[in-house]
Amino acid sequence: MASPLPAAFGDDPSFAELLAARPGLSADPLAGLMMEEVALARIAAAVGTPAWVYSAGTLRRRLAALRGALDGAGLNATIHYAMKANDNLAVVRVLAAGGAGADVVSEGELLAARAAGVPASAIVFSGVGKTEADLRRALAEDIFQINAESVEEIEALSIIATAMGRTARVALRVNPDVDAKTHAKITTGLAENKFGVAIGDAPAIYARMAELPGIEPIGIAMHIGSQITAGMSAYRAAYAKAAELVRTLRTAGLPVQRVDCGGGLGIPYRDEIAPPPEALAGAIKATLGDLGLPVMIEPGRWLAGPAGLLLSRVVLVKHGATRRFVVLDAAMNDLARPAMYDAWHGILPLAPAALVAPRTPADIVGPVCETGDTFARDRALPAMKAGDLVALLDAGAYGATMSSTYNARPLAPEVMVDGDRFAVVRDRQPIEDLLARQHMPDWLT
Ligand SMILES: *Cc1c(COP(=O)(O)O)cnc(C)c1O
Repeated sequence: MASPLPAAFGDDPSFAELLAARPGLSADPLAGLMMEEVALARIAAAVGTPAWVYSAGTLRRRLAALRGALDGAGLNATIHYAMKANDNLAVVRVLAAGGAGADVVSEGELLAARAAGVPASAIVFSGVGKTEADLRRALAEDIFQINAESVEEIEALSIIATAMGRTARVALRVNPDVDAKTHAKITTGLAENKFGVAIGDAPAIYARMAELPGIEPIGIAMHIGSQITAGMSAYRAAYAKAAELVRTLRTAGLPVQRVDCGGGLGIPYRDEIAPPPEALAGAIKATLGDLGLPVMIEPGRWLAGPAGLLLSRVVLVKHGATRRFVVLDAAMNDLARPAMYDAWHGILPLAPAALVAPRTPADIVGPVCETGDTFARDRALPAMKAGDLVALLDAGAYGATMSSTYNARPLAPEVMVDGDRFAVVRDRQPIEDLLARQHMPDWLT
């Protein structure tokens, strides 16, 4: 929009900078904050708050950008969207329609992927502790690939597959012992982390896979962490180790058909300089390109994060002894990332006047009975009052999927915007649902 927006408060990006970096969002002088061609206030009026809102256009645009980067580097690559970032069926459908497969980590996600229209032949199953039910479902659906993370899992899988008369296509997830320099809770490629097998043990385990009935070893997999913004060096180090391992396996006469490069590409929540997908494609090309193998990637956050936001309404504004508290009707049970990872999320008011009004610091909090239920501290916000609407940005990944009903708060609904249309794609959980599956033992009645 043309009207000037206030300069940044402190070091935080200004509202204008937040908007400029998010092409799916804009500020209309009359309608206020828009996603694509829909005023977000209209959605709040129609479905209430809190509510998750996703932009189909942003999902498509990001998938196309990623595809373009991989093709541009000359890679033979498939994209398997990591469903744990956002498993809403409409979100997965948009990505599947754009050519993405899925990376699933549970029987439930596998079911959701299939329900959203992802063919079994485009599904990868990851995870350090797959249950027998998970493995049976993966085999019954005859999915593309199972990424195994331990000898124990491979032996169990061999028994299950043999009993079912199936052959499991298995990639061995190796732990490259590299530091992805991200939050400790989401780094996964250090030797001390629970994921994968030690890279030194991989040749012997791969050879064992080749001997076991019901197992077809088809490649190796890595995933070194999430929200990686510290450049490409950790990726390059990990992929170089993968390339070396492939050469070792080939020398030993073991077949390797593909390399799964994992996910983890970070996004700018505040003002991080996140590497573009071209950088990831380039790192893959430089390290694995010579092998002449197809590669796979498993992005979650990069595709879905910037495509979503959490709409919320101000319950009240409270002036504490030293601080202004803006209390929202969304809480840490909805968006857990600030409480869990100290994450920074952009917060924009919806009203056109609020987007250009003078701003002073405020703490933006939820109503849950924990100090950790704080979305932002000392954030520059205009004057706000009960009933005002705000959007918490970049909540499309690890938002709704990490929600809980803590404080007996029902799960918020999900809405998809596509051009000038929007639809509720998951209903608000009815409050009665919270009690529906509980049973009072008869000796207490
Ligand atoms: C979580 C996860 C991903 C996706 O990570 P993002 O940071 O969302 O890209 C990919 N692969 C595996 C094995 C994962 O566990």
